[in-house]
Amino acid sequence: MHELGIVINIIKQMEDYMKQNNLTKIEKLVLEVGQLSEVYPKYLMDVYPLAVENTLLAKTELVIETAPGIGRCKSCDFVYNLVENDNTCPLCSAKEFSVISGRDFLIKELHAY
Ligand SMILES: [Zn+2]
Repeated sequence: MHELGIVINIIKQMEDYMKQNNLTKIEKLVLEVGQLSEVYPKYLMDVYPLAVENTLLAKTELVIETAPGIGRCKSCDFVYNLVENDNTCPLCSAKEFSVISGRDFLIKELHAY
């Protein structure tokens, strides 16, 4: 489970950011997790409360938004949701595709005071 390492890394980035900008509190942290990113939102949510204990983010609410995994069919160029269609083009049934989006894992926004 690599989610704990990811969360610790994010907390460190946020603490540095807060110090640089003289922020005392971040109300809400929004992460965007691509469906193809191999990061599981549920695990992030599970480890987050423990990871933020005794950090500047102890009172920060974590919100996770999922970005869909989108691909383009290499046979017919149709663009479709890879996860919902089980990596198979719904138009021509080809399984060859190139990923357009959904691999990213990023800090989307934060609400600071
Ligand atoms: Zn196709």
